[in-house]
Amino acid sequence: MLEVNAFENAMRQLEEVNSFLNLPGNIYEQLKAPQKFLEVSIPVKMDDGTVKVFQGFRSQFNDARGPFKGGIRFHPEVNVSEVKALSAWMTWKTAVVNIPLGGGKGGIIVDPKMLSENELERLARGYIRAIYQVIGPEKDVPAPDVNTNPKIMGWMMDEYEKITGRHLPGVITGKPLSIGGSKAREYSTAQGAVYVLEEAVKKMGLNKEGLTVGIQGFGNAGSHMGKILQKAGYKITVVSDSTCSVYNPMGLDMEAVWSHKVNTGSVGQCQGAEDKDQNFIFDCATDILIPAALENAITMENVAGINSKLIVELANGPITPEADKVLYEKGIVVVPDILANAGGVAVSYFEQVQNSYGYYWDEDHVLKRLERIMRTSFDESWELKNKYKTSLRFGAYALAVKRVADAMVDRGWG
Ligand code: NAD
Repeated sequence: MLEVNAFENAMRQLEEVNSFLNLPGNIYEQLKAPQKFLEVSIPVKMDDGTVKVFQGFRSQFNDARGPFKGGIRFHPEVNVSEVKALSAWMTWKTAVVNIPLGGGKGGIIVDPKMLSENELERLARGYIRAIYQVIGPEKDVPAPDVNTNPKIMGWMMDEYEKITGRHLPGVITGKPLSIGGSKAREYSTAQGAVYVLEEAVKKMGLNKEGLTVGIQGFGNAGSHMGKILQKAGYKITVVSDSTCSVYNPMGLDMEAVWSHKVNTGSVGQCQGAEDKDQNFIFDCATDILIPAALENAITMENVAGINSKLIVELANGPITPEADKVLYEKGIVVVPDILANAGGVAVSYFEQVQNSYGYYWDEDHVLKRLERIMRTSFDESWELKNKYKTSLRFGAYALAVKRVADAMVDRGWG
């Protein structure tokens, strides 16, 4: 999966958007690398008494619009290029939804499934001890990403507060509700993607009734999206995870597939569904395809088989630039990651706001604000797609990159 260089892809996207934005040269040069990149060694005492040293990263791409913001990924394939790319995408993401934050990302090279709960906690706390000087509510605010969750965020916040001796819950978002998390944060990425999916369906003049959906990656984001879409009347006919795809042309029951996955660790052999190989999801001709796993899932190797009308990138960077061009030429509308999955960071921002006020909103309040942000950002991106006669991806990029560049110019960075 990682033979494609994620940061190179991110920079090629920037180059393309610059071809019609024509940014001032001095600004464009500064957007070609993170402002700061930190690489740390994290020694962890294992349960057997030995010390294992893990490698971790924090990439701070751009903070012209506000504190760096972005998740922390625990994965064996985390690497420098991936973390840098994800931090660039976070910068565009916070800008496209117009929240006053910049972009960052963190990661640790680790397979968390190989650690005990105690080892995982020591690793999470060790990471914070290694990076605490560069983070903080007004500097850089981490959050969960692949294989990290509210419990881990709770440990991380606690470690930061122990070091600083202050209550600063806004140092990290995606926390459990009991220690300053926001209502709706758990499913906000998926919910935000559903709002923009609905806008796309409307703009494309599709009839929602009977539209079929495929979801590649049935984890945190993908499973929530499946459940919300099914409730809204969409028919999810195929989902996949790291083991296989499962298919039912009459529609899968999302709650049932999810509880099967929680109980067995895989979507495979789920009742009422047929097992297929992992790549079946791309050949299955669903009207809407939702990549919700990792980067570079749709490449020149499998793009020919894809004939959906609409793709909503719930994952970050799931389509390589070459494959993206092919999809555009085929007339397939792609709602890009920076817009499609921005609901998570939007509610993370609400969480920070609530933390700084010490006053907490109810779920309706959060969802109303999320919906307004997502639908407005979609409309603004769609307008720029039309203005520049480009894809929706570059419409969204034009909106985001221009906002970041304007902030840099206004700070006198040109
Ligand atoms: P997760 O670890 O909960 O889920 C990932 C899922 O993808 C797992 O079910 C895994 O089995 C599956 N998977 C891995 N490789 C696969 C493959 N080759 N084919 C099919 N499935 C595969 O992670 P998540 O939090 O759901 O994140 C998924 C994506 O969404 C990532 O790109 C992440 O950066 C992005 N994202 C997540 C959030 C969030 O709030 N969770 C926010 C923004 C973006």
